[in-house]
Amino acid sequence: MKIRVDDITEQPKLLFFEEPHEAFPSLVELQARGESEFLSPLAVELSVVREYGHIRVKGSVAVKMRFDCSRCLSAFDSDIHSAFTMFYSKGNRLNSEEDEVELAEEDLISVSYEGDEIDFAPEIAEQVIMELPLKPLCSDECHGLCVVCGAELNEGDCGCERASFNPKFSALKNLKVEK
Ligand SMILES: [Zn+2]
Ligand SMILES: [Zn+2]
Repeated sequence: MKIRVDDITEQPKLLFFEEPHEAFPSLVELQARGESEFLSPLAVELSVVREYGHIRVKGSVAVKMRFDCSRCLSAFDSDIHSAFTMFYSKGNRLNSEEDEVELAEEDLISVSYEGDEIDFAPEIAEQVIMELPLKPLCSDECHGLCVVCGAELNEGDCGCERASFNPKFSALKNLKVEK
């Protein structure tokens, strides 16, 4: 997922990549943790253009992934998609504190590069990671598992008295009775 810096001109260049997640070390690490799985290659679209003192990269990445629902624990598939704009500058020019604050406010991504080539892979992987749900849910209405018997409540109620199982709740109930 590299481009030679000399090939970047003021005419926007469109680039398309399709790469398996194995091409991204941080995504291999992610899958190894076992909480998510890549089901498709990453489809990456980039528009690269030289402007002012930097290189502007506008693009998107899409990939199909499998997660374990944090409530009911069943696996489900989801499309992860991210659109972004990144600014690449040679060396450490953008690393002065002032510039960093300015860029952070605009929510832009600034990256410095060295040498004759820019490799987009690390930033692309970072975009995917930022899109991942912290608490994956198979659906917003997922009912999760019964805390008493462990039944999956999406498949119907198991009939357990879950409310009285909650010690905090029963304490409150007793308080009411004493009144
Ligand atoms: Zn669920
Ligand atoms: Zn139950």
